[in-house]
Amino acid sequence: MSDDGDLGGEPTLDARTPRPGGALRALREANLRRILEAISRDSGMSQADVARCTDLSRATVSNLVGELRRRGLVRIRERQGGGRNGLEAVIGRSSNAVIGVDFGHRHLRVGIADLSGRLLHDEQRPLPLDLGAQESCAEAWAMATHLMAGAGLDRGDILQVGFGLPGPIDPVSGRVGWGAILHRWEGLEAQSTLRRGFGLPVVVENDGNLGALGELRRGAGRGFTDLVYLNVGTGVGAGVIIGGRIHRGAAGTAAEVGHITVDEQGQLCRCGNRGCLETVVGSDAILETLQHSYGEELDIPGVLALAERGDARCRRALADAGRAVGVVVANLCNLLSPQRIIVGGILARAGEVILTPLRETVAQRAVPAAVRATEIVPSALGERAELMGAICLALDEVAAGATGSVVAPALAAS
Ligand SMILES: [Zn+2]
Repeated sequence: MSDDGDLGGEPTLDARTPRPGGALRALREANLRRILEAISRDSGMSQADVARCTDLSRATVSNLVGELRRRGLVRIRERQGGGRNGLEAVIGRSSNAVIGVDFGHRHLRVGIADLSGRLLHDEQRPLPLDLGAQESCAEAWAMATHLMAGAGLDRGDILQVGFGLPGPIDPVSGRVGWGAILHRWEGLEAQSTLRRGFGLPVVVENDGNLGALGELRRGAGRGFTDLVYLNVGTGVGAGVIIGGRIHRGAAGTAAEVGHITVDEQGQLCRCGNRGCLETVVGSDAILETLQHSYGEELDIPGVLALAERGDARCRRALADAGRAVGVVVANLCNLLSPQRIIVGGILARAGEVILTPLRETVAQRAVPAAVRATEIVPSALGERAELMGAICLALDEVAAGATGSVVAPALAAS
């Protein structure tokens, strides 16, 4: 590899499990991503322009652009200018794109992005509770088809699809593990099911991990290597990034913080334990305490609106949730000492109503040095954190050249 001696600039770490070939390969893939990003942002750059804006050497750019050209990801034309023959290679972006899909408990969000990771279009729809995998997949494909049409693209332009699922994914079998919020997905071999459905290369990841990846690359985690992302909503999803990589653990269940016990005598949880964090701060738990006073129609947007108008009971319920999350975050600080804790999910829309008591609890309970080193901040991507993570994951696969195996689609062709 001609760029062994100069892999160029500041490395962007590969957040996924290392592929064979180790650190050098990860660095090469990171450099491919940087070049693709630069070219997709600004079509018509010369190789010298790309070298300047990526901080990579001309030799590295030339080598990697050659690879991208062989893979059909960039086009080259020549114009009068520099170079040996008075001609300069100008790189044009391809029309290729990737799709990200975020399956939630009650929603489905689909987005389409160019190879720079720029979101072209996205759309969210409510998902009937407990919809099966096939039906959910068909719904996602219908949305993707609509988005592709809006962007003037068709299936042939899509290189990769990244999926986020609200459940742990077994790293060995690839099956959706126990505890998935979507019960009917449990035990399913997600990647092959979704690949058959879409007829496109597919990569699947837990949604909390994708929220963390999205924030790491495009949101409040940019420039950091150690962070925890929390999605406080229906349940409490999370993702942990250590040394720039997603930490999944042996069973793929790392960061299942929603099932950390916060009250030994508390309510029974769907996992069979008692007093899990989710039973205290999940949206259902909050609504249950408030619906006694406000009626069955009260929903979480209603709670947030009332809190904003100064309603004492709604503010108190959200502050209590912040304190309960703070107990768990204090333990995470002691265990991992992350640089940032990023708080997202619908309840994070309450802003300081939830964040201030959360920070105070962490300050009281965690080791002082860890508290000083950890910033607790709101999500920068909001409701799109998981979707952007799915898009980043898909782009990683593109950079890794892992998008070759297209299979016959089970769903209607676009
Ligand atoms: Zn539980």
